[in-house]
This record gives sequence, C-alpha cells and structure tokens, in this order.
Amino acid sequence: MTDVGDADSASPCLALDSGGTKVEAAIVSADGSLVRHKRVNVAEHTPDLFDAIVTLARRVLGDHEVNVVGVGCAGPMTRGGGTVSPLNIPSWREFPLRQSLRDALGLDAFVDGDARALALAEGQYGAARDVTSNLSMVVSTGVGGGIVLNGQLLDGESGNAGHVGHLTVVANGALCSCGAYGCLEAEASGWAIEARTGRPAREADQATRLRTGELVGRAVGMLSSVLDFRHGYVAGSVPSATVTISLPRQRRPRATRQSCPTRTTSRYCRRNSAGTDRSSVRRSWDGEV
Ligand SMILES: [Zn+2]
Repeated sequence: MTDVGDADSASPCLALDSGGTKVEAAIVSADGSLVRHKRVNVAEHTPDLFDAIVTLARRVLGDHEVNVVGVGCAGPMTRGGGTVSPLNIPSWREFPLRQSLRDALGLDAFVDGDARALALAEGQYGAARDVTSNLSMVVSTGVGGGIVLNGQLLDGESGNAGHVGHLTVVANGALCSCGAYGCLEAEASGWAIEARTGRPAREADQATRLRTGELVGRAVGMLSSVLDFRHGYVAGSVPSATVTISLPRQRRPRATRQSCPTRTTSRYCRRNSAGTDRSSVRRSWDGEV
C-alpha cells in the first residue's frame, strides 16, 4: 500500500495524463500548483500515441528543469507501470511505458493508474485532505478507480486495485471490452455513451446524464458497502466537473433481502444522485456545476 502523504519533493515535476482520446502534460510545482499545461487530442486507437506523448512532453518542458516525470494511465498494468495494457488503448499491450519515457525524455519515470494518481492527489492537495478513506474515480474514455482506506492507497496483488469500471451495474447490459456484460465502463464511459446515443458524451441529453449519474452512484454504493468509506470523488471528461459524493452512515443491516448492505447503500446513493436534495452528483450530470 502507498501512504497518501508520501508525495513529497522540493522540485517541480513533469506530470502526464495519457488517455484514449487525449494527452495532457503539465509542469507541477512542489505545492501542487500548475506552472505550465498543455493538452492535445489524439485520434482514437492511434498507433502513434507514444510519439504524441513525447512531443507534447518536450513542448511543455521547454527549458524548465525537472528530474522526474509522473504518469497517470488507464489500466491494467504491471505493478509500478513497467508495462501497461489499457483496455481503451488497443495499440498498447504490455507496452513498456516507464522505460520508454526514461529513454525518450532522460527523466526518472513513475507510472500508475490515472484514478489511483487522482486518489493520491485528492488526498495530498484536494478535497480528500481531511478524509482517511475514499474512492476516487475517472469517468472518461474508460472508467478507473483508486481506493484509499485508512490513509493508504490500496494496491492489491497486481497493483490494480480499484478497477471500478468493471463492476456490473446493469444486468445483461452492453458488452464490455473486458468481455463481460453490463460493466460500468460499458454503460457510462465516454465511448459507451457515444455507442448508445450516437453522440459524444458532452452532447448527451438529460435522460442520459441522469442515467450515467445513477450508474456511477450505484457503483460507488456497492463499493462503499464492502469497504466502509463515505466519500467518493469523480473526475474525467464525462462529468461536467469533479464531483464529490458523500454517503450517509450505513444503517445496521437487517437480515432481510430488502435491506442487505448493497441495496441499502445503493438506495442512499440513488437518492443522493437523483433525489430532491439536488446533490452534487445530479447537479454535475445536469451540467449545473
Ligand atoms: Zn468490463
């Protein structure tokens, strides 16, 4: 496990976010502020994604002096990001991202899941600074997650703990790139929304926005029942802003089917995401945040 408070360096670093349809690069100072930032869109499934990343990184670096590059990338990947195989980037299978960046940029490189990096960043600089346990999610071209429990980022046996995108949220739902049906990624990601509606996620109608918010809330509710956290943070290109989900304390479950923990928490989450309290989940998917 990784301590959330471990990120400590006096020098700025180069930060890269590699997604299925865009790449972002930034110089980030030791206090977490952005010094310089650029973004490029990449053609979906492009075989030249790594070249696009290196070109963007060099443009952002300019004459800034940094010693290290940190990379957030979709998973799965081997522990430490030695090789990455993002489901939403078919041209990368066991791609040696870490060593390739070291060779191309001459910098020490560290790679982790994009949502796991988000979880560390929220704990170090963002909304989770005073929260010891939470789920952070990226809902974008794909859907990823990072879980912090008692101040430590969960790694799991392969280093990919938190892959929330492959929780089943719709019975007999859409086919996912992982081979299963009804995964959150197959129902609520950018590509899933486009496949379902024929339009990019940013042009989704109200019904699609509410459905997406509810499915994300359902996944958060399921995980919170198992892992006992009360806060979730959702970022990425699908929500219109980073969203904070606060769950009520779980009631003691009674021994009836209607009140098993998952159903109970899912009900709370639905109420939070689509009820009369106008919570941040619904506001974001409504485009009001
Ligand atoms: Zn899946």
